[in-house]
Amino acid sequence: MKSVEFTLLGCGSSSGTPAIGCECATCRSDDARNRRTRASAYVDVDGVGFLIDSGPDLRAQALREGVTRVDAVLYTHPHADHLNGIDDLRAFCYLRRGPVTLYGNAFTLDNIRSRFSYALMAASPSWDKPVLTTETVTGSFMHEGVELTPVPLLHGKWPCLGWRIGDAAWLTDLSSIPDASMDLLRGLKVLFLDCLRYDSYPSHLSVAEALEWAARIGAERTVLIHMTHDLEYSRLAGECPPGVEPGYDGLRVRIGGR
Ligand SMILES: [Zn+2]
Ligand SMILES: [Zn+2]
Ligand SMILES: [Zn+2]
Repeated sequence: MKSVEFTLLGCGSSSGTPAIGCECATCRSDDARNRRTRASAYVDVDGVGFLIDSGPDLRAQALREGVTRVDAVLYTHPHADHLNGIDDLRAFCYLRRGPVTLYGNAFTLDNIRSRFSYALMAASPSWDKPVLTTETVTGSFMHEGVELTPVPLLHGKWPCLGWRIGDAAWLTDLSSIPDASMDLLRGLKVLFLDCLRYDSYPSHLSVAEALEWAARIGAERTVLIHMTHDLEYSRLAGECPPGVEPGYDGLRVRIGGR
């Protein structure tokens, strides 16, 4: 079995925590686990590197975690907090002297092609822009020997994707999981799951909803992500049932391998 290592680059919501101008206890906390950059992950599978999304904190996240190799980007959806660091993919294109492949559904890739067309052109000698190619996915596929499985989700009215790699899955920004996608989530060892805040919200899971979905999916370990400053790490950790925990930036989880 291949070794799959997830590095939680960011577990914050679109505002990040602390939120600009906020004086709440979470935003003023000294606990580093309450400082959350925008939601993203790096997945290393036996040396092949995948980014899940390219949020606006990508550069800082990559420097913090020593990420230097990106073979492909697995997009969930085109909201700004998941996409707008796309220009910082330039560094990874330059390091490999070639294009990086972007995988996503048609909805997301159409959005990227219309907003960031300059990033989809051939490389120039100065590598002054990212050099990206797009591949629409509708089911499991292979990239450099690694099986990747998109998991269709609903994020309000938007058709978004979660991603399963080996026995781990990343499900951010969702309000509902279609029945057919539940079949793709059997036997998970680790699940990263959307959990916005205590109050309900039309396009995300509240804490209560996240705990219900976590129980239904039944992963051995569920890590909550995409949290606002409403959620203080220690308090939420104390409210979670066994097998469920809040995530924090920099958390690493390894599955399989030696
Ligand atoms: Zn988001
Ligand atoms: Zn706050
Ligand atoms: Zn979103």
